[in-house]
Amino acid sequence: MNILKSFENTEVAFKQKSNFQLRKAYLLFQFFAYTKLMRFANKVLLKAFKWHLPIDFLVRKTAFDHFCGGESIKDCQKAINNLHASKVGTILDYSVEGKEEDTYFDATTKEIIATIKEAATQRDKIPFSVFKVTGLAPFSLLEKVNSKQILNAEEEKEYIQVKRRIDAICQEAHKNHVKLLIDAEESWIQDAIDALTNEMMEKYNKEEAIVYNTLQMYRHDRLAYLQNDIAIAKEKNYKLAYKIVRGAYMEKERARALAHSYVSPIQIDKTHTDNDYNQALEICINQGIAICAGTHNEKSAAFLAEQILAKNIAPNDARFYVAQLLGMSDHISCNLASQGFCVAKYVPYGPVREVMPYLIRRAEENTSVAGQTSRELDLIQKEIKRRKNN
Ligand SMILES: Cc1cc2nc3c(=O)[nH]c(=O)nc-3n(C[C@H](O)[C@H](O)[C@H](O)COP(=O)(O)OP(=O)(O)OC[C@H]3O[C@@H](n4cnc5c(N)ncnc54)[C@H](O)[C@@H]3O)c2cc1C
Repeated sequence: MNILKSFENTEVAFKQKSNFQLRKAYLLFQFFAYTKLMRFANKVLLKAFKWHLPIDFLVRKTAFDHFCGGESIKDCQKAINNLHASKVGTILDYSVEGKEEDTYFDATTKEIIATIKEAATQRDKIPFSVFKVTGLAPFSLLEKVNSKQILNAEEEKEYIQVKRRIDAICQEAHKNHVKLLIDAEESWIQDAIDALTNEMMEKYNKEEAIVYNTLQMYRHDRLAYLQNDIAIAKEKNYKLAYKIVRGAYMEKERARALAHSYVSPIQIDKTHTDNDYNQALEICINQGIAICAGTHNEKSAAFLAEQILAKNIAPNDARFYVAQLLGMSDHISCNLASQGFCVAKYVPYGPVREVMPYLIRRAEENTSVAGQTSRELDLIQKEIKRRKNN
């Protein structure tokens, strides 16, 4: 079976989309293609939200509808069922960001625990839960811990709280046998996140892989990091598990390294990132380490599937997942799922206004990632034509 070729099947890719939804998606991606207009619209939208102008309806009916499951877990049920109809799992992603108060961190902890409970009641539909450490901790505190600065008494207290929140979430996942992804973030807080995640893996991954760390393969040190983790986990006798991504903060990382005159943690070019990405997948498959390959790259997704087949592993072996974001790359998700591979999608949710930073990132990503928008447009157009001719 030619996996890459199978991604061309738009009938399978868009089976759950009505003609109306397809046309709407086409208009949305066409809008993204006008880079300058899109950037201007993002600025206007942010201002409009700041001034409390009633534009929620407009956002809800456009980008929010396309990229998000709804405002609450309950709201996401339609998206969950739709994905399940295409044999694609859901990863409920509470996408409220950028708040820094304790009450918010506690509320987020509660919400993540609610997604774990929901996953436990819909095991066939929701294979993972996910969270970001910056949703539970002040960024500046993580930065201080990361750079090994001495914390004052107040900060010590705050960090104990952060650890309590993370432990409560991981404990709930362990109790319910729900796999839990911990997102990777900027390199200047990532050592702190890695340390917290490794502690949780050691505590909760004794019998099965519950807690997943994330490896960003745009970093040139991540293969060595992976090999080191493998040695430690062997010695301490716990199971490793990873989400493997390329990494979302490249421009920011390079700019900061330049501004502070240190060597950038980012690979010298895309080819190095791509090579390390596939190598990380191969190492994990060979060692039986559970993974979730978070990627919209057709070649990497096909590479993972081919490796699984080449090693006579059952495609539905739940140790090996591939994941995309809702509203993107359905041709990869649905076609792999239809061939029996384990596939899931992040389904972001939260109040429209709170999810705006996430939506703006999606819009910008679809503008800046070379070929991403035109690929989505081509696929949607192909399916619209196919339906017309049938
Ligand atoms: C389910 C899912 C979960 C994710 N979770 C995280 C997460 O926890 N943390 C996170 O940081 N990101 C996360 N991402 C985003 C991810 O890291 C990528 O930014 C995004 O998926 C684009 O990469 P790609 O593999 O899809 O494909 P591609 O489009 O093939 O790759 C683009 C990526 O390649 C890298 N790249 C591009 N140009 C260069 C260059 N010149 N030199 C070196 N590298 C280059 C960059 O990482 C860029 O984002 C997630 C993505 C998905 C789908």
